[in-house]
Amino acid sequence: MPTPRRLLAGLLLAAVPVTIAACRVWAPSPALSAEDAAKFVTAVNDTMLKLGRQQQQANWVAATYITSDTEAISARANQAYIDAVARNAKDAVRFNSLQVAADVRRQLELLKTTLTVVTPSDARQAEELTTLTASMEAAYGRGKWCKDPAQPATCLDIEQITEEMATSRDPVRLRELWEGWHTISIPMKKDYVRFVELANRGAKELGFADTGALWRAKYDMPPDAFTRELDRLWEQVRPLYVSLHAYVRMKLRAKYGDIVPEKGPIPAHLMGNIWAQDWSNLAPLVAPGSGGPAYSLTDILKSRNAGAVEMTKMGERFFTSLGFAPLPATFWERSMLVKPADRNVICHASAWDVDLVEDLRIKMCIDPTEEDFTTIHHELGHNFYQRAYNTLPILFRDSANDGFHEAVGDTIALSVTPEYLVKIGLLDKAPDASGDIDLLLARALEKIAFLPFGLLIDQWRWQVFSGQVPPDQYNKVWWDLRLKYQGVAPPEMRGEQFFDPGAKYHVPAVTPYTRYFLAHILQFQFHRALATLAGCTGPLNRCSIYESKVAGARLEAMLKLGQSKPWPDALEALTGSRDMDATAIRDYFAPLQTWLDEQLKGQPTGW
Ligand SMILES: [Zn+2]
Repeated sequence: MPTPRRLLAGLLLAAVPVTIAACRVWAPSPALSAEDAAKFVTAVNDTMLKLGRQQQQANWVAATYITSDTEAISARANQAYIDAVARNAKDAVRFNSLQVAADVRRQLELLKTTLTVVTPSDARQAEELTTLTASMEAAYGRGKWCKDPAQPATCLDIEQITEEMATSRDPVRLRELWEGWHTISIPMKKDYVRFVELANRGAKELGFADTGALWRAKYDMPPDAFTRELDRLWEQVRPLYVSLHAYVRMKLRAKYGDIVPEKGPIPAHLMGNIWAQDWSNLAPLVAPGSGGPAYSLTDILKSRNAGAVEMTKMGERFFTSLGFAPLPATFWERSMLVKPADRNVICHASAWDVDLVEDLRIKMCIDPTEEDFTTIHHELGHNFYQRAYNTLPILFRDSANDGFHEAVGDTIALSVTPEYLVKIGLLDKAPDASGDIDLLLARALEKIAFLPFGLLIDQWRWQVFSGQVPPDQYNKVWWDLRLKYQGVAPPEMRGEQFFDPGAKYHVPAVTPYTRYFLAHILQFQFHRALATLAGCTGPLNRCSIYESKVAGARLEAMLKLGQSKPWPDALEALTGSRDMDATAIRDYFAPLQTWLDEQLKGQPTGW
């Protein structure tokens, strides 16, 4: 994940609810000139750079040295940053009807959409909203299901439930766990209804119809057009999802019997994941049984005693082979690559640019495993992106849209192929294509299974924010969408006494989700374009852009644009096309599609 330089993260980290100062909403004034607007964005950039650095430093220490003091220091720094951006975003409204230079206009608009939640000007309402968002996230974090509340030993948190759902094959227990976790969100519903009201008030003050419209305004097109664009992408990839769904359903029916229907939706509690968003844990049940992958990178790394620095150097070499400059010396001095023995840290991998210029770092607890080796390539993708746009105004120092940052990291990870491992000396010889179905199926269980889930969370929220879905239909519409897109159903009818969306972190934590859907689409489109530039003519799943200066130059052409231009410009710089295109996914998984078609002969598909 990239640096969490987002307002929301900061807002929710705040230990003490801080009221965002009530701001005057300025009326357009004839006295304002284009020069005033230019001066204003320069001043905003200076403030964001100064406070952003303080925030990054505080957050870095808090994540790599967890104490109550470092937590308090980072909460303060986050709040200072949020307050400044909130003030400035509302201030920017006074330039709304003024003719200004295009890059100034873009910065003013970006400033307004930096906020995920806009607090209303009314101080009491602002405080109420800040408290509500903090308490919903805290309620999720505290969430536990106790089979027997009298016995604390039976209480399970989300990590424990996730772990058990990954491996249990007992349908009674799985249902119990699933229903148990979905009780934690019941008390959140009342808060969520109020949150929607207040957040919409704030969004309206910035000129947006509602909070969903504010979120969609980040995408350089009218909100409704963006919604249609997402559906178009989904339709492109849907046939592959339907095949995967039918194949998995057939296998689950063979395992669990009649609780899995022959033709209908799959019970959501049987997917190895509480939200049915990642089906990787079903791999042992659905694997083709061709003997598994031809080699284990984890075994290779372990047998070589590969260290964290050595593995990271290999990742760096990937980027220098594309023509990027090596990482700065400070990267090696300041990164956290190994889990410290003497203190608590957050091990969840992330990439940082602490001074927002060139103080690049990654924070990871690296083990010699294939997963970590791939993750290193992913995280460094964020770092090289951050450095490529580091001369732009701060408001432009981000990815073209929020799907791009994650997509770039994953694009690089897709190039970790057997051929690449041979070139860097980790593998003697690339295996033939006979084991590819295992690898492609495993990848599809993760990435294709995710797509409809990645899409529907915000489909639900946008309708909730706009009022199209009133509170007495929250749960009904949630399950309508899960049926429509994912083809899953709850173990039993779920009425409005439940608030099932709240059982997913990003809903109570108010984190937009469409970025993950976009990242999953874009990474394959980037990979296909770069692989073609690199001259790869083989199957896309075997293409690596390692050592291709041509591909590297095109990648950099996109990265260095940051957020300075509408995302279609950035997309065009890399792919030559201004449209997102999910057909690259179909290309990448073509061998798997053929194989699935074989397996599904005479079997029902769809639900
Ligand atoms: Zn990432």
